[in-house]
Amino acid sequence: MAKTVLITGGSRGIGRACVELFARRGWRAVFLCRTRADAAKMLVDKLRAEGCDAEYFLCDVSDRTRVDEVVGEILRRCHRIDALVNNAAISQIKLFTDLTPEDWRRMFAVNVDGVFNCTQAVLGGMISEKSGAIVNISSMWGQVGASCEVAYSAAKAAVIGLTKALAKEVGPSGVRVNCVCPGVIDTDMNAALDEETRAALRDETPLERIGTPEDVARAVAYLCSEEASFITGQILGVNGGMII
Ligand code: NDP
Repeated sequence: MAKTVLITGGSRGIGRACVELFARRGWRAVFLCRTRADAAKMLVDKLRAEGCDAEYFLCDVSDRTRVDEVVGEILRRCHRIDALVNNAAISQIKLFTDLTPEDWRRMFAVNVDGVFNCTQAVLGGMISEKSGAIVNISSMWGQVGASCEVAYSAAKAAVIGLTKALAKEVGPSGVRVNCVCPGVIDTDMNAALDEETRAALRDETPLERIGTPEDVARAVAYLCSEEASFITGQILGVNGGMII
């Protein structure tokens, strides 16, 4: 029977690349997105036309009630969730002194509570099965911090801490928890960068290019695979060498 992966934020960018890669490798790829039902439906139709198994649910990961409802529905349909990719997130560029309490709370509600909500919703099933893989998407800014992105950096650092602690807690139950920290990746999140900034970022990167969503998806798929069966609690940079 095909394994099931649940990917949050699968309508665009890195999450979408994960959906495509897992589905094409024979997984049943179920994904969540917040608003872009049109993009999600087009992706599902495209993958099904290729003979792949994919479906989506509209779900804000910060909404605990909705997350529980959707995961319950997925479990009714698929019986188990073999892998979870906590990818959905928001970013915000603002001086720390200009951040409002609402900015701070929304950042943590999506980027940290979202990981907590989705992980708690699937973990019980994984522990019962004594198997499962969770990959959390953090950021290189969660490792080293970014000026004008203090809230984002703090939230992404929390995801790294959560990964390490949870890996220790659930390792004895057969569940692996790892984290991928992308560098600069070509997605909507970086759409506002002008060509001069992109060139400067390329210059700062030893591999001399901006990353693609597929670069990250391949690392995520590896960590969810049997190839990574002795790897847990690890933080894997996919950043072209920008942070070493
Ligand atoms: P995008 O902005 O391109 O896509 C974000 C995705 O997350 C969309 O599918 C969006 O859904 C979904 N999403 C956002 N908020 C919510 C929410 N509250 N509930 C459910 N889904 C939500 O992001 P990227 O692909 O660039 O980023 C993916 C991950 O990689 C994030 O965790 C990000 O922090 C991380 N990252 C990205 C980097 C980059 O350079 N791009 C660098 C480092 C880390 P919808 O389409 O419906 O809005």
